[in-house]
Amino acid sequence: MRALITGVTGQDGAYLAQLLLDKGYEVFGLMRRSSSSDVVGERLRWLGILDRVTLIDGNLIDLSSLIRTVQEVGPDEVYNLAAQSFVKSSWNQPLLTGQVTGLGAANMLEAVRIARPRARFYQASSSEMFGLIQEQVQSETTPFYPRSPYAVAKLYAHWSTVNYRESFGLHASSGILFNHESPLRGIEFVTRKVTDAVARIRLGLQSELLLGNIDAKRDWGHARDYVRAMWLMLQQDQPDDYVVATGRTTSVREMCEIAFAHVGLNMADFVRTDPRYLRPAEVDVLLGDASKARRVLGWQPEISLEAMIAEMVEADLARHRAQLLVRQG
Ligand code: NDP
Ligand code: GDP
Repeated sequence: MRALITGVTGQDGAYLAQLLLDKGYEVFGLMRRSSSSDVVGERLRWLGILDRVTLIDGNLIDLSSLIRTVQEVGPDEVYNLAAQSFVKSSWNQPLLTGQVTGLGAANMLEAVRIARPRARFYQASSSEMFGLIQEQVQSETTPFYPRSPYAVAKLYAHWSTVNYRESFGLHASSGILFNHESPLRGIEFVTRKVTDAVARIRLGLQSELLLGNIDAKRDWGHARDYVRAMWLMLQQDQPDDYVVATGRTTSVREMCEIAFAHVGLNMADFVRTDPRYLRPAEVDVLLGDASKARRVLGWQPEISLEAMIAEMVEADLARHRAQLLVRQG
């Protein structure tokens, strides 16, 4: 089996590549050109799989590169994970976000339709599409109400996926994934920002942590659990859409308490709020109902929030200790 992953250098791309390699797949990844290509593969290197993934030069906004890549690889499965994925940046770069996160998915669907229509397709949709929630617990049937340019772009990509399935019979599935984190999460996202700061404070490298809205609540799971759900979706005879979530929601404040407590510190001594980190429109609370994924895919999360935060804090402590050793010669 051959898989093509866009966004292979991101958090989910790296864990998904690892999962597929373990299952015996040949894994190809689309990588956009960067002047720092030595560090772009860092997550794959961290997992020890950089040399086992074939990286192909391409960009989601360049349809010709996508068609050529799909032709060259001839994948059985295509996972479209690439995106401008940070909600806060989407207000600063709304058009780029629309081009990459929204139209980019349509480009990928076109490339598959033109060059490899029998490949199975996965679209990385997001719980951010529920935004201003219309139901207390969100499932596949909950109406969407996007609250950011990111969420608007994801909604376009989601409906394009549904539309290509219905119009052209593509085996295209959309995973509506709630927030998922790991030691490989980008440092700008709140869990990783917190675990990195906790490690730095513990090691005496930082004295306070500035955050935005700490009353926001998210349904946080672990990326390693969530990439398994992506794969399971493409193993079904029929393509479909699935919510993937833990069914537990936690505030940023409580998540911080867990992280600080892991190293024996009290968050109230270090956390300050700063309006710079507030957003023009907030998603106050998300809570997912993944009973369809449980029933049809046999999927369920295995890693608790506490275990995940502990793993992330430990990984950040190890990173900073290693850097300190290098600096001390
Ligand atoms: P990351 O931000 O870690 O990774 C995004 C990936 O997209 C990177 O590999 C990045 O490349 C790549 N990329 C960005 N722009 C382009 C482009 N123009 N052409 C080609 N590649 C590009 O995201 P995650 O791994 O966390 O998320 C994976 C997907 O799932 C994303 O689509 C995200 O929006 C979605 N999602 C994530 C959730 C989460 O909680 N993590 C929740 C729901 C959905 P580079 O390394 O060069 O920057
Ligand atoms: P998102 O759900 O995709 O936007 O993931 P984030 O991890 O970026 O944000 C999750 C929640 O944490 C949002 O409601 C943010 O407003 C809130 N939050 C509070 N302080 C911060 C902060 O300093 N950085 C980020 N990224 N989010 C914060």
